[in-house]
Amino acid sequence: MQKIILKEHHNYVAFFLTFACNLNCNYCINNHSNNLKVKRNKMLTANEWARAAERLILRDDLPLTLQGGEPTLYRGFYEFVNNIKNNIKLDLLTNMQFDEREFAEKTPLKLFLRDAPYAPIRVSYHPAQNDIAEIIKKTEYLQARGFRIGIYAVLPPDAKKAEEILLLQKELVAAGFDFRIKEFLGEYNGKIYGQFKYQDAVSNKPLKNCECRTTELLVAPNGLIYSCHSHLYAARYEIGHILDENFNADLIDIFRECNYYGDCNPCDVKIKTNRFQIFGHTSVEIRNIKEK
Ligand code: SF4
Ligand code: SF4
Repeated sequence: MQKIILKEHHNYVAFFLTFACNLNCNYCINNHSNNLKVKRNKMLTANEWARAAERLILRDDLPLTLQGGEPTLYRGFYEFVNNIKNNIKLDLLTNMQFDEREFAEKTPLKLFLRDAPYAPIRVSYHPAQNDIAEIIKKTEYLQARGFRIGIYAVLPPDAKKAEEILLLQKELVAAGFDFRIKEFLGEYNGKIYGQFKYQDAVSNKPLKNCECRTTELLVAPNGLIYSCHSHLYAARYEIGHILDENFNADLIDIFRECNYYGDCNPCDVKIKTNRFQIFGHTSVEIRNIKEK
């Protein structure tokens, strides 16, 4: 198939292998505004994901990130990672509810070895959902097998819970683990949390019209490509299909009309660190914002 050659300014490439998850976090960003939908197109097979991955020409500093939902719940996960024939590197975002021995046995380590300021396998710790003792045990096992693991937790807006997370971080960092904090994004007790470039973009109503351009390639479980997380989760405005021969990287760079300004996902409009860990990046650029 024709290659998709990602450009210098393309900052993120993700395959959402499945939206299924075995946890039920109340702040799950996948379900921002409760509008997660998946078009009933055929989900990609492991072979199709492998063909899609082989189309990608990525830079050394731009991995293909596997995420979800919980990506390891995708039934063809191990078949897919073993069928990747090119030299791309993978990152994995996971809640680590998988069997660590099976993972170590069936996952080619070389796919997850990359020089980067953060670990290629990033585990989300969700208090009251997954167990930190189990995460630590699995992390130690996988690190002994050569995998590089980072553990991440969201800093809750609630002061007491935030204190618990910070204390845990202190303990785990002292014990040699890579434990990092992510900021809480979205609404809590009527207040919007997060540093956003476009202030009313996540406040929902009233929706406005605008033009928007992305820096990311986001592929849904059925292979459809979306320009932002809001459209991905709501299954609207796909910009192509990852197995469409005619899709190329120029199509990522187009300013497109959007009627959903105000329903943007915090991931897309928050000011964050880019792949070099430099602060100030935003995934999308928005212009011509107008009342409907
Ligand atoms: S583990 Fe992640 S995808 Fe699953 S419910 Fe929690 S936040 Fe959502
Ligand atoms: S304006 Fe918001 S919802 Fe529309 S494409 Fe951009 S990020 Fe997505």
